[in-house]
Amino acid sequence: MGRVVVKSLWDFQRHGAHVRVRCGHYRCRHETIMRAAPLVRLFMERRWNADLTIAGSWFRCERCNHRGARLEMASPHLAPHLPPP
Ligand SMILES: [Zn+2]
Repeated sequence: MGRVVVKSLWDFQRHGAHVRVRCGHYRCRHETIMRAAPLVRLFMERRWNADLTIAGSWFRCERCNHRGARLEMASPHLAPHLPPP
């Protein structure tokens, strides 16, 4: 996938991409691929800021329980697993 600038969660959905959520803890870096659409819906429902500089802070790692993650664009052919938090 080429370089696409994404500034908010909406951009993932707009580009038909999945969201790669990577744990922000330096010793964990656990990764999960999520579908963009349910995440966008969740953020709308809870009125969370979907700006990517902030959006990651809403995530909590399922493995180490660290709060805060990096969100990156993931190719849509990667199968998503796990529903959003
Ligand atoms: Zn973690």
